[in-house]
Amino acid sequence: MEEPSALILRATQFAALKHRDQRRKDHAASPYIIHPVTVAHELTLAGIADPEVIAAALLHDTLEDTETVPAELLAAFGERVCKMVQELTDDKELPKAERKRLQVEHAPGLSPGAALVKVCDKIANITDITHSPPPDWSTERRMQYLGWAETVVAGCNVDNDQLKQRFVDVLANGREGIKNV
Ligand code: NDP
Ligand code: ZN
Repeated sequence: MEEPSALILRATQFAALKHRDQRRKDHAASPYIIHPVTVAHELTLAGIADPEVIAAALLHDTLEDTETVPAELLAAFGERVCKMVQELTDDKELPKAERKRLQVEHAPGLSPGAALVKVCDKIANITDITHSPPPDWSTERRMQYLGWAETVVAGCNVDNDQLKQRFVDVLANGREGIKNV
């Protein structure tokens, strides 16, 4: 049986390699890998220690944003991690507005682990949009993102009061910070 820390570090290494040429959309064009690591860290801040859920957080954007295919995740990390990452992957063939609508529609049907990662992903993105947004985003667009993220998270079945409170705090802080720019 693999040590939990070994699984988590393998997932970190896998994601770092897959995202190695990508950057976030912030002014500094930060290395992409900071984002999945932040999402995984948000889980641990809420007391979530399940190593497969942490691995899914680290890997959550590999199918959507890199050349990774599910068979690679299945072989390296097993069925549960692979399925969680698939649940967290938008269909890139669809138009952006449709993808956003489907995230709202699919939120209630997420497995418990994927729902936890989904909420942490929105926490991380709201934090980015508050403190290091894409430079070309208007105040209105940033506020719209927060409203959409709130709707997605409202649909997620998450049995963790600490995480729910963290989302409420990050959202309120974001609205306050963006309004006062
Ligand atoms: P998105 O809303 O898809 O971009 C946000 C996503 O980019 C995040 O969810 C995150 O995804 C990723 N990301 C990377 N870096 C950052 C960062 N620094 N801060 C925040 N997020 C980051 O925007 P798109 O450009 O793809 O536009 C799609 C939608 O925006 C469309 O539905 C369109 O209608 C709408 N739109 C609205 C406008 C407006 O003025 N209101 C103008 C233009 C478009 P991840 O976690 O996957 O990395
Ligand atoms: Zn993400």
